[in-house]
Amino acid sequence: MKKYTTAILWLRNDLRLHDNEALARAVRDAEYVLPIFCFDPRNFGKTPYGFPKTGAFRTQFLLESLADLRLGMTVRGGNLLLCSGKPENILPTLAREIKAEAVYFHEEATDEELRVEEAVREALTKIGVKEHSYWGATLMHIDDVPFSPEQTPDIFTQFRKIVEKKVTPRKTFSTPQHIKLPSGMDASAFGELSTLAALGVDVAPSVPDGRAVLPFKGGETQALSRLNAYFWERDCLKEYKETRNGLLGADYSSKFSAWLALGCLSPRYVYEEVKRYEAERIQNDSTYWLVFELLWRDFFRFTALKYDTALFRKAGIMNVKKPWQEDWERFDLWRRGQTGIPFIDANMRELLATGFMSNRGRQNVASFLVRDLNVHWLMGAEWFESQLIDYDVCSNYGNWNYAAGIGNDPREDRYFNIMRQAGMYDPKGEYVRHWLPELRAVPSAYIHEPHRMSMDAQKQAECRVGVEYPIPIVNLEETARKFQR
Ligand SMILES: Cc1cc2nc3c(=O)[nH]c(=O)nc-3n(C[C@H](O)[C@H](O)[C@H](O)COP(=O)(O)OP(=O)(O)OC[C@H]3O[C@@H](n4cnc5c(N)ncnc54)[C@H](O)[C@@H]3O)c2cc1C
Repeated sequence: MKKYTTAILWLRNDLRLHDNEALARAVRDAEYVLPIFCFDPRNFGKTPYGFPKTGAFRTQFLLESLADLRLGMTVRGGNLLLCSGKPENILPTLAREIKAEAVYFHEEATDEELRVEEAVREALTKIGVKEHSYWGATLMHIDDVPFSPEQTPDIFTQFRKIVEKKVTPRKTFSTPQHIKLPSGMDASAFGELSTLAALGVDVAPSVPDGRAVLPFKGGETQALSRLNAYFWERDCLKEYKETRNGLLGADYSSKFSAWLALGCLSPRYVYEEVKRYEAERIQNDSTYWLVFELLWRDFFRFTALKYDTALFRKAGIMNVKKPWQEDWERFDLWRRGQTGIPFIDANMRELLATGFMSNRGRQNVASFLVRDLNVHWLMGAEWFESQLIDYDVCSNYGNWNYAAGIGNDPREDRYFNIMRQAGMYDPKGEYVRHWLPELRAVPSAYIHEPHRMSMDAQKQAECRVGVEYPIPIVNLEETARKFQR
């Protein structure tokens, strides 16, 4: 005997069938389950600095993920209702209409999302509909860590050591085989997938940029297929620790982030596959390191819960006051990849053209913006929010707090020496040439400082370059001296 006749499953950043606790429990508890996703207009507005809150790459990825989920639900007898509007208005109305007794969903961790949850809870309570919410986005469950969110250690290493010693990830929930919809609902009632234009989003390039690390496509099917390729077909996991700082190509790192951010991929499933890989292939530093990186993701989510809105304030979670400049001229050169510093410009152009950038790249461009240019960190964080295909509110704002020296970094005022980083991670300039066609003919000796070549008339004549590329907007030697006293 089931607890309920009808329940609603409200989906947000948990767009998957595997290891989805809210889905598994709704199907277990209710005879009929109606899954719904709301296009909340607040998510398609503008950030405070005026960038689209959800840019074209992520919107496209979201639509693909919803299409995939709807298909997955349909083959199991269900479907996915798509609505446009605020969940706190839509859910109670729908619950009344279909006589649902309960709503199931996953909990989020940051201010805007929590306020929506609160409004939904309030509206449901008023009409006597129960809510069942679950924690499902992290590798380690919030109820299993031996500290309350307010006591989350501020230093990652402390967090990791406690968690590694005391917590084991929970087992994944299996994918339900059957989903029964409330009677009388036919396919036409479920709504069309919105288009980018209908959501007010600039249309993404119809032909994906062929220079991208991967042709990212949203959805659980694609996520599982990427994991299968990276772990099992191409056997890349065994050398992840050595390759993860790469810049070019599909396989230097897992590229799981976009699917993890939207919940198409469960971190617990990744963990179980790492364990299986260790049992069947090899266990080494690399297999450990992928789980280590997933703990960074957990750390930023717990930190977000702890610090609430402080994550988004100018002084950051540590309340450090700095004289940030809202320098739009410098900022625009940075975001368009026109600073005259090839390593920065290549990374920013990759982001602009594809919505992705490597972790090494992100650390460098963030440090460059806030340290070398002294531009307000929130401008950079909001630009990333808008552009990144894998935007995750906790990871993005957590990492930006860290980069800006106002977050939980034990090394105060960490500084990335851009020229040194470029020399280490792109010694021959292959990455720079990949993204900056105007520098393709520049010899390796000058590739990271092409302005120096213009002083060498003979070299310039030989290579026929130098004029089309800007001179650096900042003297990196000077800033490096300032920060590395
Ligand atoms: C300024 C800045 C902003 C960032 N913004 C985001 C963001 O919005 N969304 C996002 O998912 N990551 C963000 N990151 C973290 C990291 O750069 C990406 O997760 C990573 O580059 C994604 O590539 P991957 O999946 O191949 O990573 P892999 O190296 O294969 O790592 C596996 C997974 O571990 C997690 N992970 C790895 N490094 C980090 C990290 N530093 N912080 C949190 N999680 C991590 C990710 O979920 C990633 O998919 C940011 C980093 C910086 C420096």
